[in-house]
Amino acid sequence: MPLPAIINAAPRRDAAILIVDDAPANLGMLRKMMTQQGYQTFVATTGERALSIARRVHPDLILLDVVMPGMDGLETCRQLKQHPGTQRIPVIFMSARAETDDVVAGFDIGAVDYISKPLRMAEVCARVRAQLQIRTTSDSQHEQAQRLRTIVDSMAEGLLIIEGSGRIQYANPACGRYLGCSPEALEKKTLGDLLTPQVTQEYLNYFARCATEPEFAPQPGAREVVIRQCDGSLRAMDLTLAPMAMHETLFIGLLHDITHHKQSETALQRAALLDPLTKIANRRHFDIFLDMEWQRAIRSGEPLSLVVLDVDHFKLYNDTFGHPAGDAALQSVAAVLQAHAPRATDMAARYGGEEFVLLFAETSPADAAALAEAIRADVEALHLPHPRSSTSDSITVSIGVATMIPTQLDHVERLFIAADRAMYTAKEAGRNRVEHVDASSSAWDAVKALVMR
Ligand code: GH3
Ligand code: MG
Ligand code: MG
Repeated sequence: MPLPAIINAAPRRDAAILIVDDAPANLGMLRKMMTQQGYQTFVATTGERALSIARRVHPDLILLDVVMPGMDGLETCRQLKQHPGTQRIPVIFMSARAETDDVVAGFDIGAVDYISKPLRMAEVCARVRAQLQIRTTSDSQHEQAQRLRTIVDSMAEGLLIIEGSGRIQYANPACGRYLGCSPEALEKKTLGDLLTPQVTQEYLNYFARCATEPEFAPQPGAREVVIRQCDGSLRAMDLTLAPMAMHETLFIGLLHDITHHKQSETALQRAALLDPLTKIANRRHFDIFLDMEWQRAIRSGEPLSLVVLDVDHFKLYNDTFGHPAGDAALQSVAAVLQAHAPRATDMAARYGGEEFVLLFAETSPADAAALAEAIRADVEALHLPHPRSSTSDSITVSIGVATMIPTQLDHVERLFIAADRAMYTAKEAGRNRVEHVDASSSAWDAVKALVMR
Protein backbone atom coordinates (compact mmCIF):
# COMPACT_ATOMS: atom_id res chain seq x y z
CA MET A 1 0.00 0.00 0.00
CA PRO A 2 1.49 3.40 -0.88
CA LEU A 3 2.12 5.63 2.11
CA PRO A 4 -0.18 8.61 2.37
CA ALA A 5 1.30 11.86 1.02
CA ILE A 6 1.47 13.19 4.55
CA ILE A 7 4.27 10.74 5.37
CA ASN A 8 6.52 11.90 2.52
CA ALA A 9 8.86 14.71 3.50
CA ALA A 10 8.79 17.82 1.31
CA PRO A 11 11.84 17.99 -1.00
CA ARG A 12 14.53 20.34 0.37
CA ARG A 13 15.63 23.21 -1.85
CA ASP A 14 19.06 24.90 -1.64
CA ALA A 15 19.27 27.02 1.49
CA ALA A 16 18.23 30.65 0.86
CA ILE A 17 19.93 33.38 2.84
CA LEU A 18 18.72 36.93 3.29
CA ILE A 19 21.59 39.36 3.96
CA VAL A 20 20.65 42.68 5.51
CA ASP A 21 23.24 45.47 5.80
CA ASP A 22 23.10 49.18 5.08
CA ALA A 23 26.76 49.17 3.94
CA PRO A 24 26.89 48.10 0.25
CA ALA A 25 30.49 46.92 0.58
CA ASN A 26 29.58 44.46 3.37
CA LEU A 27 26.55 43.37 1.45
CA GLY A 28 28.55 42.66 -1.71
CA MET A 29 31.24 40.74 0.14
CA LEU A 30 28.78 38.62 2.10
CA ARG A 31 26.69 37.90 -0.94
CA LYS A 32 29.72 36.74 -2.89
CA MET A 33 30.83 34.49 -0.08
CA MET A 34 27.40 32.94 0.46
CA THR A 35 26.94 32.36 -3.27
CA GLN A 36 30.31 30.61 -3.36
CA GLN A 37 29.07 28.32 -0.59
CA GLY A 38 26.19 27.31 -2.86
CA TYR A 39 23.43 29.24 -1.11
CA GLN A 40 20.73 31.21 -2.84
CA THR A 41 20.95 34.84 -1.67
CA PHE A 42 18.66 37.82 -1.20
CA VAL A 43 19.81 41.23 -0.07
CA ALA A 44 18.28 44.23 1.66
CA THR A 45 19.76 47.54 2.82
CA THR A 46 16.95 48.49 5.23
CA GLY A 47 14.90 46.78 7.93
CA GLU A 48 11.62 47.49 6.12
CA ARG A 49 12.88 45.92 2.91
CA ALA A 50 14.23 42.94 4.84
CA LEU A 51 10.79 42.33 6.40
CA SER A 52 9.04 42.42 3.05
CA ILE A 53 11.54 40.04 1.40
CA ALA A 54 11.43 37.68 4.39
CA ARG A 55 7.64 37.47 4.26
CA ARG A 56 7.74 36.74 0.54
CA VAL A 57 10.62 34.29 0.13
CA HIS A 58 10.81 32.66 3.57
CA PRO A 59 14.62 32.45 3.66
CA ASP A 60 16.25 29.67 5.68
CA LEU A 61 18.45 32.14 7.54
CA ILE A 62 18.86 35.91 7.91
CA LEU A 63 22.18 37.66 8.45
CA LEU A 64 21.10 40.92 10.05
CA ASP A 65 23.14 44.03 10.68
CA VAL A 66 22.28 45.64 14.03
CA VAL A 67 23.11 49.28 13.35
CA MET A 68 21.11 50.61 10.42
CA PRO A 69 19.43 53.95 9.77
CA GLY A 70 15.65 53.92 10.26
CA MET A 71 14.48 50.56 11.54
CA ASP A 72 17.52 48.99 13.18
CA GLY A 73 18.38 45.29 13.33
CA LEU A 74 16.88 44.75 16.81
CA GLU A 75 13.50 46.18 15.75
CA THR A 76 13.60 44.25 12.47
CA CYS A 77 14.25 41.04 14.40
CA ARG A 78 11.42 41.82 16.84
CA GLN A 79 8.99 42.22 13.97
CA LEU A 80 10.22 39.06 12.27
CA LYS A 81 9.57 37.14 15.51
CA GLN A 82 6.06 38.61 15.85
CA HIS A 83 4.93 37.49 12.41
CA PRO A 84 3.81 33.83 12.21
CA GLY A 85 5.21 33.48 8.66
CA THR A 86 8.72 34.59 9.67
CA GLN A 87 9.07 33.81 13.36
CA ARG A 88 10.78 30.45 12.83
CA ILE A 89 13.52 31.86 10.54
CA PRO A 90 16.86 31.88 12.41
CA VAL A 91 18.47 35.32 12.65
CA ILE A 92 22.22 35.89 13.08
CA PHE A 93 23.12 39.40 14.17
CA MET A 94 26.25 41.10 12.85
CA SER A 95 27.56 44.15 14.65
CA ALA A 96 30.61 46.11 15.63
CA ARG A 97 28.78 46.67 18.95
CA ALA A 98 29.83 43.46 20.55
CA GLU A 99 29.52 44.50 24.17
CA THR A 100 27.92 41.90 26.40
CA ASP A 101 24.71 43.94 26.80
CA ASP A 102 24.27 44.18 23.04
CA VAL A 103 24.83 40.49 22.57
CA VAL A 104 22.37 39.65 25.36
CA ALA A 105 19.76 42.06 23.89
CA GLY A 106 20.14 40.31 20.54
CA PHE A 107 19.57 36.86 22.00
CA ASP A 108 16.69 38.17 24.13
CA ILE A 109 14.66 39.16 21.11
CA GLY A 110 15.20 35.80 19.45
CA ALA A 111 18.50 35.79 17.55
CA VAL A 112 20.30 32.45 17.35
CA ASP A 113 23.82 33.83 17.05
CA TYR A 114 25.82 37.04 17.19
CA ILE A 115 28.88 37.73 15.00
CA SER A 116 31.09 40.69 15.75
CA LYS A 117 32.39 42.99 13.05
CA PRO A 118 34.80 43.26 11.34
CA LEU A 119 33.63 40.01 9.83
CA ARG A 120 35.98 37.08 9.41
CA MET A 121 34.50 35.32 6.45
CA ALA A 122 35.52 31.77 7.43
CA GLU A 123 33.83 32.29 10.80
CA VAL A 124 30.65 33.66 9.16
CA CYS A 125 30.53 30.61 6.88
CA ALA A 126 31.02 28.20 9.78
CA ARG A 127 28.33 29.89 11.88
CA VAL A 128 25.87 29.96 8.96
CA ARG A 129 26.54 26.28 8.26
CA ALA A 130 26.00 25.37 11.91
CA GLN A 131 22.74 27.30 12.13
CA LEU A 132 21.42 25.80 8.89
CA GLN A 133 22.18 22.37 10.27
CA ILE A 134 20.26 23.10 13.48
CA ARG A 135 17.46 24.60 11.42
CA THR A 136 17.21 21.46 9.26
CA THR A 137 16.98 19.27 12.33
CA SER A 138 14.45 21.49 14.03
CA ASP A 139 12.42 21.80 10.80
CA SER A 140 12.24 18.08 10.37
CA GLN A 141 11.22 17.66 14.02
CA HIS A 142 8.60 20.34 13.53
CA GLU A 143 7.34 18.66 10.34
CA GLN A 144 7.32 15.30 12.09
CA ALA A 145 5.29 16.73 14.94
CA GLN A 146 2.89 18.39 12.49
CA ARG A 147 2.44 15.14 10.59
CA LEU A 148 1.79 13.18 13.77
CA ARG A 149 -0.72 15.80 14.88
CA THR A 150 -2.55 15.59 11.54
CA ILE A 151 -2.67 11.80 11.85
CA VAL A 152 -3.91 11.93 15.45
CA ASP A 153 -6.45 14.64 14.60
CA SER A 154 -7.87 12.73 11.64
CA MET A 155 -7.87 9.27 13.28
CA ALA A 156 -11.25 7.54 13.44
CA GLU A 157 -10.17 5.93 16.73
CA GLY A 158 -10.16 7.90 19.94
CA LEU A 159 -6.69 8.49 21.41
CA LEU A 160 -6.09 9.43 25.02
CA ILE A 161 -2.87 10.13 26.89
CA ILE A 162 -3.42 9.24 30.53
CA GLU A 163 -1.26 9.91 33.58
CA GLY A 164 -0.54 7.21 36.16
CA SER A 165 -3.05 8.91 38.49
CA GLY A 166 -5.79 8.37 35.89
CA ARG A 167 -5.90 12.03 34.84
CA ILE A 168 -6.47 12.57 31.12
CA GLN A 169 -3.67 14.70 29.72
CA TYR A 170 -4.66 14.69 26.07
CA ALA A 171 -7.69 13.62 23.99
CA ASN A 172 -7.90 13.71 20.20
CA PRO A 173 -10.95 15.02 18.29
CA ALA A 174 -12.33 11.48 17.71
CA CYS A 175 -12.50 11.03 21.50
CA GLY A 176 -14.49 14.25 21.69
CA ARG A 177 -16.90 12.97 19.03
CA TYR A 178 -17.26 9.58 20.74
CA LEU A 179 -17.93 11.06 24.14
CA GLY A 180 -19.95 14.06 23.04
CA CYS A 181 -17.77 16.89 24.30
CA SER A 182 -14.70 18.89 23.31
CA PRO A 183 -11.23 17.35 23.72
CA GLU A 184 -10.47 20.25 26.07
CA ALA A 185 -13.36 19.26 28.34
CA LEU A 186 -12.03 15.69 28.37
CA GLU A 187 -8.62 16.93 29.41
CA LYS A 188 -10.17 18.05 32.72
CA LYS A 189 -11.49 14.55 33.43
CA THR A 190 -10.07 11.34 34.86
CA LEU A 191 -10.53 7.68 33.87
CA GLY A 192 -12.97 7.39 36.77
CA ASP A 193 -15.28 9.90 35.06
CA LEU A 194 -15.49 7.63 32.02
CA LEU A 195 -15.40 4.07 33.38
CA THR A 196 -17.17 2.09 36.08
CA PRO A 197 -15.45 2.15 39.51
CA GLN A 198 -14.34 -1.46 39.19
CA VAL A 199 -12.77 -1.10 35.73
CA THR A 200 -11.12 2.19 36.76
CA GLN A 201 -9.57 0.49 39.79
CA GLU A 202 -8.27 -2.35 37.65
CA TYR A 203 -6.53 0.13 35.34
CA LEU A 204 -5.12 2.18 38.23
CA ASN A 205 -3.71 -1.02 39.72
CA TYR A 206 -2.17 -1.79 36.35
CA PHE A 207 -0.63 1.71 36.14
CA ALA A 208 0.83 1.30 39.61
CA ARG A 209 2.29 -2.06 38.66
CA CYS A 210 3.85 -0.59 35.51
CA ALA A 211 5.51 2.09 37.62
CA THR A 212 7.03 -0.38 40.07
CA GLU A 213 7.85 -3.34 37.84
CA PRO A 214 7.61 -2.19 34.20
CA GLU A 215 9.19 -5.27 32.70
CA PHE A 216 6.78 -7.67 34.42
CA ALA A 217 3.46 -5.94 33.97
CA PRO A 218 1.56 -7.67 31.15
CA GLN A 219 -0.27 -5.38 28.74
CA PRO A 220 -4.01 -5.57 29.32
CA GLY A 221 -4.81 -5.50 25.55
CA ALA A 222 -8.20 -4.53 24.11
CA ARG A 223 -11.21 -5.04 26.31
CA GLU A 224 -14.84 -4.13 26.01
CA VAL A 225 -15.83 -1.41 28.46
CA VAL A 226 -18.92 0.67 29.07
CA ILE A 227 -17.99 4.34 28.74
CA ARG A 228 -19.99 7.14 30.28
CA GLN A 229 -20.38 9.94 27.72
CA CYS A 230 -20.32 13.59 28.72
CA ASP A 231 -24.17 13.71 28.76
CA GLY A 232 -24.21 10.72 31.14
CA SER A 233 -25.42 8.14 28.60
CA LEU A 234 -23.54 4.85 28.31
CA ARG A 235 -21.82 3.44 25.24
CA ALA A 236 -19.98 0.18 24.63
CA MET A 237 -16.42 0.59 23.34
CA ASP A 238 -13.21 -1.36 23.00
CA LEU A 239 -10.41 0.19 25.06
CA THR A 240 -6.73 -0.66 24.57
CA LEU A 241 -4.31 0.76 27.14
CA ALA A 242 -0.54 0.53 26.97
CA PRO A 243 2.37 2.39 28.55
CA MET A 244 3.94 4.98 26.27
CA ALA A 245 7.27 3.63 25.02
CA MET A 246 10.19 4.79 27.21
CA HIS A 247 7.82 6.69 29.48
CA GLU A 248 6.64 4.72 32.46
CA THR A 249 4.31 7.39 33.86
CA LEU A 250 2.13 8.00 30.78
CA PHE A 251 -0.28 5.60 29.11
CA ILE A 252 -1.87 5.62 25.69
CA GLY A 253 -5.53 4.68 25.46
CA LEU A 254 -7.17 3.79 22.14
CA LEU A 255 -10.95 3.88 22.04
CA HIS A 256 -12.85 2.02 19.37
CA ASP A 257 -16.60 2.47 19.14
CA ILE A 258 -18.46 -0.83 18.97
CA THR A 259 -21.98 0.48 19.53
CA HIS A 260 -23.02 -0.48 16.00
CA HIS A 261 -21.67 -4.03 16.51
CA LYS A 262 -23.62 -4.16 19.74
CA GLN A 263 -26.75 -2.96 17.96
CA SER A 264 -26.49 -5.62 15.27
CA GLU A 265 -25.69 -8.18 17.97
CA THR A 266 -28.88 -7.19 19.76
CA ALA A 267 -30.79 -7.34 16.46
CA LEU A 268 -29.43 -10.86 15.88
CA GLN A 269 -30.32 -11.93 19.39
CA ARG A 270 -33.79 -10.51 18.89
CA ALA A 271 -34.16 -12.36 15.57
CA ALA A 272 -33.10 -15.61 17.24
CA LEU A 273 -35.96 -15.20 19.73
CA LEU A 274 -38.72 -14.31 17.25
CA ASP A 275 -40.85 -16.56 15.11
CA PRO A 276 -40.15 -15.44 11.54
CA LEU A 277 -43.72 -16.02 10.27
CA THR A 278 -45.78 -14.40 13.01
CA LYS A 279 -43.15 -12.08 14.54
CA ILE A 280 -44.18 -13.09 18.05
CA ALA A 281 -41.83 -14.92 20.46
CA ASN A 282 -40.63 -18.36 19.39
CA ARG A 283 -40.46 -21.51 21.47
CA ARG A 284 -36.90 -20.83 22.66
CA HIS A 285 -37.82 -17.38 23.89
CA PHE A 286 -40.92 -18.70 25.62
CA ASP A 287 -39.01 -21.46 27.41
CA ILE A 288 -36.45 -18.94 28.77
CA PHE A 289 -39.27 -16.64 29.88
CA LEU A 290 -41.25 -19.49 31.45
CA ASP A 291 -38.18 -20.59 33.44
CA MET A 292 -37.69 -17.08 34.83
CA GLU A 293 -41.38 -16.58 35.66
CA TRP A 294 -41.55 -20.05 37.20
CA GLN A 295 -38.71 -19.23 39.60
CA ARG A 296 -40.25 -15.86 40.36
CA ALA A 297 -43.64 -17.44 41.10
CA ILE A 298 -41.95 -19.92 43.48
CA ARG A 299 -40.49 -16.94 45.37
CA SER A 300 -43.59 -14.75 45.28
CA GLY A 301 -46.25 -17.43 45.82
CA GLU A 302 -48.31 -15.83 43.05
CA PRO A 303 -50.28 -18.05 40.64
CA LEU A 304 -48.92 -18.74 37.16
CA SER A 305 -51.23 -19.55 34.24
CA LEU A 306 -50.23 -21.34 31.07
CA VAL A 307 -52.52 -21.22 28.05
CA VAL A 308 -52.07 -23.76 25.24
CA LEU A 309 -53.98 -23.02 22.04
CA ASP A 310 -54.41 -25.09 18.88
CA VAL A 311 -56.11 -24.04 15.65
CA ASP A 312 -59.07 -26.26 14.86
CA HIS A 313 -59.12 -28.31 11.65
CA PHE A 314 -56.19 -26.42 10.31
CA LYS A 315 -55.03 -29.18 8.00
CA LEU A 316 -58.37 -28.89 6.21
CA TYR A 317 -57.98 -25.11 6.03
CA ASN A 318 -54.62 -25.53 4.29
CA ASP A 319 -56.10 -28.14 2.00
CA THR A 320 -58.91 -25.77 1.06
CA PHE A 321 -57.09 -22.47 0.60
CA GLY A 322 -53.45 -23.48 0.23
CA HIS A 323 -50.43 -23.07 2.48
CA PRO A 324 -49.94 -19.30 1.94
CA ALA A 325 -53.53 -18.62 3.06
CA GLY A 326 -52.84 -20.88 6.05
CA ASP A 327 -49.77 -18.79 6.87
CA ALA A 328 -51.84 -15.60 6.74
CA ALA A 329 -54.42 -17.15 9.09
CA LEU A 330 -51.65 -18.07 11.56
CA GLN A 331 -50.42 -14.45 11.46
CA SER A 332 -53.93 -13.19 12.26
CA VAL A 333 -54.30 -15.60 15.17
CA ALA A 334 -50.85 -14.60 16.49
CA ALA A 335 -51.83 -10.93 16.38
CA VAL A 336 -54.90 -11.67 18.53
CA LEU A 337 -52.73 -13.48 21.08
CA GLN A 338 -50.16 -10.73 21.17
CA ALA A 339 -52.88 -8.15 21.81
CA HIS A 340 -53.88 -10.10 24.91
CA ALA A 341 -50.36 -10.22 26.39
CA PRO A 342 -49.46 -6.55 26.93
CA ARG A 343 -47.78 -6.72 30.38
CA ALA A 344 -44.07 -7.33 30.91
CA THR A 345 -45.12 -10.43 32.87
CA ASP A 346 -47.17 -11.84 29.93
CA MET A 347 -45.86 -13.60 26.88
CA ALA A 348 -47.50 -14.98 23.76
CA ALA A 349 -45.44 -17.35 21.59
CA ARG A 350 -45.77 -19.67 18.62
CA TYR A 351 -44.78 -23.03 20.00
CA GLY A 352 -44.76 -24.87 16.67
CA GLY A 353 -47.02 -25.45 13.65
CA GLU A 354 -50.50 -24.17 14.50
CA GLU A 355 -49.95 -24.36 18.24
CA PHE A 356 -49.50 -21.30 20.41
CA VAL A 357 -48.87 -20.70 24.09
CA LEU A 358 -49.37 -17.79 26.47
CA LEU A 359 -48.05 -17.27 29.96
CA PHE A 360 -49.77 -15.01 32.44
CA ALA A 361 -47.87 -14.39 35.68
CA GLU A 362 -49.56 -13.09 38.82
CA THR A 363 -52.96 -13.95 37.37
CA SER A 364 -55.73 -15.68 39.27
CA PRO A 365 -57.35 -18.82 37.79
CA ALA A 366 -60.57 -16.90 37.12
CA ASP A 367 -58.74 -14.06 35.36
CA ALA A 368 -56.73 -16.55 33.28
CA ALA A 369 -59.90 -18.35 32.22
CA ALA A 370 -61.50 -15.01 31.29
CA LEU A 371 -58.44 -14.01 29.24
CA ALA A 372 -58.52 -17.35 27.40
CA GLU A 373 -62.21 -16.94 26.67
CA ALA A 374 -61.58 -13.41 25.32
CA ILE A 375 -58.87 -14.79 23.03
CA ARG A 376 -61.16 -17.56 21.78
CA ALA A 377 -63.92 -15.04 21.05
CA ASP A 378 -61.54 -12.64 19.28
CA VAL A 379 -60.22 -15.41 17.01
CA GLU A 380 -63.79 -16.39 16.14
CA ALA A 381 -64.55 -12.71 15.51
CA LEU A 382 -61.83 -12.62 12.83
CA HIS A 383 -64.38 -14.45 10.67
CA LEU A 384 -61.76 -16.22 8.59
CA PRO A 385 -64.09 -18.48 6.52
CA HIS A 386 -63.49 -22.22 6.98
CA PRO A 387 -66.20 -23.88 4.87
CA ARG A 388 -64.96 -27.46 5.41
CA SER A 389 -64.79 -27.29 9.22
CA SER A 390 -67.29 -29.60 10.86
CA THR A 391 -67.53 -27.46 13.99
CA SER A 392 -67.73 -23.83 12.74
CA ASP A 393 -68.02 -21.66 9.61
CA SER A 394 -64.78 -19.89 10.39
CA ILE A 395 -61.37 -20.45 11.93
CA THR A 396 -61.58 -21.25 15.64
CA VAL A 397 -59.21 -22.35 18.37
CA SER A 398 -59.35 -24.83 21.20
CA ILE A 399 -57.74 -23.65 24.40
CA GLY A 400 -56.47 -25.35 27.53
CA VAL A 401 -55.55 -23.30 30.59
CA ALA A 402 -53.67 -24.56 33.63
CA THR A 403 -53.01 -22.45 36.69
CA MET A 404 -50.79 -23.26 39.63
CA ILE A 405 -48.80 -21.72 42.43
CA PRO A 406 -45.50 -23.54 41.88
CA THR A 407 -43.31 -24.77 44.73
CA GLN A 408 -39.74 -26.06 44.92
CA LEU A 409 -41.16 -29.57 44.69
CA ASP A 410 -42.88 -28.99 41.35
CA HIS A 411 -41.53 -29.27 37.83
CA VAL A 412 -42.56 -26.94 35.06
CA GLU A 413 -43.50 -29.98 32.93
CA ARG A 414 -46.47 -30.46 35.23
CA LEU A 415 -47.98 -27.13 34.17
CA PHE A 416 -47.48 -27.97 30.48
CA ILE A 417 -49.02 -31.41 30.75
CA ALA A 418 -52.03 -30.02 32.60
CA ALA A 419 -52.61 -27.28 29.99
CA ASP A 420 -52.13 -29.71 27.09
CA ARG A 421 -54.62 -32.16 28.60
CA ALA A 422 -57.12 -29.34 29.08
CA MET A 423 -56.66 -28.35 25.43
CA TYR A 424 -57.34 -31.92 24.25
CA THR A 425 -60.41 -32.01 26.48
CA ALA A 426 -61.58 -28.84 24.69
CA LYS A 427 -60.98 -30.54 21.32
CA GLU A 428 -62.93 -33.63 22.37
CA ALA A 429 -65.74 -31.53 23.79
CA GLY A 430 -66.38 -30.05 20.32
CA ARG A 431 -63.50 -27.50 19.73
CA ASN A 432 -63.81 -23.68 19.79
CA ARG A 433 -63.87 -23.70 23.58
CA VAL A 434 -61.75 -23.16 26.69
CA GLU A 435 -61.00 -25.78 29.34
CA HIS A 436 -59.38 -24.79 32.60
CA VAL A 437 -57.69 -26.90 35.25
CA ASP A 438 -56.11 -26.09 38.59
CA ALA A 439 -52.71 -27.74 38.45
CA SER A 440 -51.56 -26.82 41.94
CA SER A 441 -49.26 -29.36 43.41
CA SER A 442 -50.68 -32.25 45.33
CA ALA A 443 -47.06 -33.06 46.28
CA TRP A 444 -46.99 -29.93 48.39
CA ASP A 445 -50.25 -30.94 50.02
CA ALA A 446 -48.72 -34.33 50.75
CA VAL A 447 -45.66 -32.74 52.39
CA LYS A 448 -47.87 -30.43 54.42
CA ALA A 449 -49.99 -33.38 55.47
CA LEU A 450 -46.86 -35.27 56.56
CA VAL A 451 -45.54 -32.31 58.58
CA MET A 452 -48.88 -31.60 60.21
CA ARG A 453 -49.49 -35.17 61.24
P1 GH3 B 1 -57.29 -30.30 15.05
O1 GH3 B 1 -58.52 -29.53 15.07
O2 GH3 B 1 -57.44 -31.66 15.66
O3 GH3 B 1 -56.16 -29.56 15.64
O4 GH3 B 1 -56.96 -30.58 13.51
P2 GH3 B 1 -55.75 -29.99 12.69
O5 GH3 B 1 -55.99 -30.26 11.27
O6 GH3 B 1 -55.54 -28.56 13.04
O7 GH3 B 1 -54.54 -30.80 13.27
P3 GH3 B 1 -53.34 -31.50 12.59
O8 GH3 B 1 -52.30 -31.56 13.69
O9 GH3 B 1 -53.75 -32.73 11.91
O10 GH3 B 1 -52.82 -30.50 11.47
C1 GH3 B 1 -52.08 -29.39 11.74
C2 GH3 B 1 -51.84 -28.70 10.42
O11 GH3 B 1 -51.15 -27.48 10.59
C3 GH3 B 1 -50.98 -29.54 9.49
C4 GH3 B 1 -49.95 -28.58 8.98
O12 GH3 B 1 -49.88 -28.60 7.57
C5 GH3 B 1 -50.44 -27.25 9.42
N1 GH3 B 1 -49.32 -26.36 9.67
C6 GH3 B 1 -48.35 -26.47 10.62
N2 GH3 B 1 -47.48 -25.47 10.52
C7 GH3 B 1 -47.91 -24.66 9.52
C8 GH3 B 1 -47.45 -23.46 8.92
O13 GH3 B 1 -46.42 -22.88 9.32
N3 GH3 B 1 -48.14 -22.91 7.92
C9 GH3 B 1 -49.28 -23.51 7.44
N4 GH3 B 1 -49.94 -22.92 6.45
N5 GH3 B 1 -49.73 -24.65 7.96
C10 GH3 B 1 -49.08 -25.24 8.98
MG1 MG C 1 -51.96 -29.38 16.18
MG1 MG D 1 -55.02 -28.03 15.01
